[in-house]
Amino acid sequence: MGAPPDAICNLDLKSAIRLTLKISAEFVVSAVGPEDFPGDGLPEVAMVGRSNVGKSSLINALTRQKLARTSAEPGKTRLANVYRVQRGAGAPFYLVDLPGYGYARRSRSPESTSFEALTEAFFSRERASALLLVDTRHPGLDNDRAAWQWLYRSAPAAIVGTKVDKLARSQRMRALRQLESVFEDTVLPVSAVTGEGLDELWKLIDRLANSRQP
Ligand code: GDP
Repeated sequence: MGAPPDAICNLDLKSAIRLTLKISAEFVVSAVGPEDFPGDGLPEVAMVGRSNVGKSSLINALTRQKLARTSAEPGKTRLANVYRVQRGAGAPFYLVDLPGYGYARRSRSPESTSFEALTEAFFSRERASALLLVDTRHPGLDNDRAAWQWLYRSAPAAIVGTKVDKLARSQRMRALRQLESVFEDTVLPVSAVTGEGLDELWKLIDRLANSRQP
């Protein structure tokens, strides 16, 4: 799957060239416990967010492959899926799909407790960083705010606003202002459907991947 034609029409030449870069992405492991994470010291960028926020769609749009399963049963998975990704001649890194909010302490079931341990283990890794995905249509949900409070203290992190294609231009400005005021940080608007923001998202991922040197 290439970039959608509408997205290409609105780009400058450099961005258009970047969109044609070859991306290799492969599934590595479904981590159940800390010992399952790769041991080769490559940077790790986690994507975290509520079920249905558009995480799988975004991973697939970024890598131009159907790597992640888009949710038929939201919130069921309690594994961290790890993908090895390389774009063009850039350095490889791991994209880590961390479903749900293990750290939001929603319930005390053994399943959620072990997932919480897994997320904590992930964020204590030396080269871990994170993207918090929030839905641009729902600024400032309590669990998104709780997640950000936890995340930005735990690792280099940034916020991405998903499904921006669902907002009209006027609504989008307002939503972004609201989001940035709630999180007191910049929020990058993206759409997995139109491809908007994906080039900027790659740059953000590069920055996070290189924010902690070995
Ligand atoms: P996940 O549970 O966070 O992995 O979310 P999914 O990627 O499975 O997406 C949840 C729903 O939102 C699906 O019906 C997707 O088709 C839809 N969706 C995801 N990203 C976008 C987007 O950028 N734009 C629009 N319009 N729909 C999206």
